[in-house]
Amino acid sequence: MSLAFPLPPIPTLKVEEGGEYAVRRIFCVGRNYAEHTREMGHEPTPEAPFYFTKSPAHMVRADADIPFPPETADYHHEVELAVALGADVFRASEEEAAAAAWAYAVALDMTRRDRQQEGKDRRRPWDLGKDVEASAVVGTLRRDFEPADQRIEMRLNGELRQDGRLSDMIHGVPAIVADLSRFYHLGPGDLILTGTPAGVGKVEAGDAIMARVEGLPPFDLRIGPPL
Ligand code: MN
Repeated sequence: MSLAFPLPPIPTLKVEEGGEYAVRRIFCVGRNYAEHTREMGHEPTPEAPFYFTKSPAHMVRADADIPFPPETADYHHEVELAVALGADVFRASEEEAAAAAWAYAVALDMTRRDRQQEGKDRRRPWDLGKDVEASAVVGTLRRDFEPADQRIEMRLNGELRQDGRLSDMIHGVPAIVADLSRFYHLGPGDLILTGTPAGVGKVEAGDAIMARVEGLPPFDLRIGPPL
């Protein structure tokens, strides 16, 4: 086979314990923290989680500045726990789902909030709001981590903006993976961003972001100039 164009690069994440993790899909959970659900104008419900996706080509490793994207005046930060799967699961029990969680990282689900809101208002998809170039920012994966009640926080220019606990998640990692596995044959290469605590807000070019989950490799980066 001869390719018309060079093979696109495969996005990978650094694994702290060694090697790289190739990412094939990125799933994101919506409204998984009660306080964030309320700040977005909804009442939290105990219903099944819901999802949207981001293209793996839009993933960036959190070791450099990220660009400010076009067509937004309201680009938001959402700090999240990311889980990387390491086993095939389909219609999994929560026990099987928990065993498939292979490594974890700190992530940002950067969002064109104005475009997302337009989608909601006009009953159109969220893609222009969520599947934004360089909007899935993911730190180094750590295998030696078990989500419990660790602190998750994000600072903007040194000021604490998002501050929660992983135990505040409405749906925990096993429940999310088990539920998502009803819809997809999940496996290695699947990355799930598990939702954001309250305090989301807009960033501007030049802003400094610090993203933290207690027990995971932290990252700091800047919002670069507009793309
Ligand atoms: Mn999010």
